[in-house]
Amino acid sequence: MNHDTAKLNCEAFQAQLPELIGSGENAAAHPHVQDCELCRALLADLETIAEAARLLFPSVEPPADLWAQIESKIRSEEASAHAN
Ligand SMILES: [Zn+2]
Repeated sequence: MNHDTAKLNCEAFQAQLPELIGSGENAAAHPHVQDCELCRALLADLETIAEAARLLFPSVEPPADLWAQIESKIRSEEASAHAN
């Protein structure tokens, strides 16, 4: 397993993740998620947040911007977690 390649795949996958979810695709079925524990965890976090968002805003489809905001928030949390 080449970790550099795996990381590249993660970045590519995470870049398209908001679009994937926004378009109604089953992101959990994506081949990268099947192979990548990191992105499975990320997706689980996103789904938890998405579920909370549905409870808060049951009649509103989350705009694409929201996914970008959620994603950047998770990334900043991960970045601060790594810093510790
Ligand atoms: Zn990944």
